Amino acid sequence: MKFNTKTIHGGQEHDKAYGAVMPPIYQTSTYAQKTPGGHKGYEYSRTHNPTRNALENAFASIENGNYGLAFGSGLAAIDAVIKLLQPGDEVISTNDLYGGTYRLFTKIFEGFGIKFHFIGMENADKVESYVNEKTKLIWAETPTNPMMNIIDIKALAAVASKHNILLGVDNTFATPYLQRPLDLGADIVMHSATKYLGGHSDVVMGALAVKDKELADRLYFIQNASGAVCGPQDSFLVLRGIKTLHVRMQRHCENGEKVARYLENHPKIEKVYWPGFESHPNHDVAKAQMDDFGGMISFVTKGNDYDEAIRIVENLKIFTLAESLGGVESLAGHPASMTHASIPKEEREKTGVVDSLIRLSVGIEDADDLIADLNQAIG
Ligand SMILES: *Cc1c(COP(=O)(O)O)cnc(C)c1O
Repeated sequence: MKFNTKTIHGGQEHDKAYGAVMPPIYQTSTYAQKTPGGHKGYEYSRTHNPTRNALENAFASIENGNYGLAFGSGLAAIDAVIKLLQPGDEVISTNDLYGGTYRLFTKIFEGFGIKFHFIGMENADKVESYVNEKTKLIWAETPTNPMMNIIDIKALAAVASKHNILLGVDNTFATPYLQRPLDLGADIVMHSATKYLGGHSDVVMGALAVKDKELADRLYFIQNASGAVCGPQDSFLVLRGIKTLHVRMQRHCENGEKVARYLENHPKIEKVYWPGFESHPNHDVAKAQMDDFGGMISFVTKGNDYDEAIRIVENLKIFTLAESLGGVESLAGHPASMTHASIPKEEREKTGVVDSLIRLSVGIEDADDLIADLNQAIG
């Protein structure tokens, strides 16, 4: 089955009771038993719920995995992955990382005795130089946020398998429409389904997909034992979102390219970060591992003026100034004052998050309207 069919049918079957084409929202916490233990496969909704299971099967299918797991948020999904580890274990992580992931690693799990190395991962040899006998996990995010660097998943997978360590990839920005980490050798693929998979800015949810049964069983154990699951209503909404993922992503990519090329030619713009440009330092890797370049773009203005960046994001009318990304509507963010405000200026500037950096999540509106909006706001 090809991807555009999988988003609609992958892992799905019609409702057994009445043939409903969409799985019903099984808004129930528990299930009747005829005798103790005599149930129909469902005992309690933290452990299993039919609507959530339908969604989990869809996750597995679109990521070319065998097992899917849904969680109450993207961070809850990452939390479950780190709980595979023990005190004393080490993780090598991307440095240009989603801020909440960085906070989870440093403020929660370092306190439990897990050590994290945050490094640039564009060079797999550099990643390998951080491996020691305590290393249990490599955690990668590509494209990175907000600098849009590209990490070679295949090269990382070679390092991970050589040293028998797990490779997890946060695929939130790319989605399986653009890149399928499990096919490239990753062990775990993770999503903030809040973003493109849900696609309509109306749900917070996380997801994992894996190929290996033993790894899946350990993660299902953690999912049930820690309990950070999502509800059936949200499961229904994200399943509905996935059914249009391919058509939405196609338009996100088309609009993203138009906006990136418009910004590149604007006299007031200094630099545009988008992996589709041939001048992007990791363009060749992006071309090899991604099917297109997505709708996430960052840019900086000439003169790098903080107040000017604030003025631009405040003047936008179709782009909404907001955190998050991946919905049908276009959003703009100013990392220095929003997502990265808690990081000292010197630290954030090391990875390129300068005062005038603006991040766009290009939506699926008409590209002409988006460009006109940027044009009037930049002036
Ligand atoms: C939003 C996001 C997360 C966290 O997901 P939540 O659903 O907000 O918990 C993790 N990684 C990336 C890349 C994200 O964009």
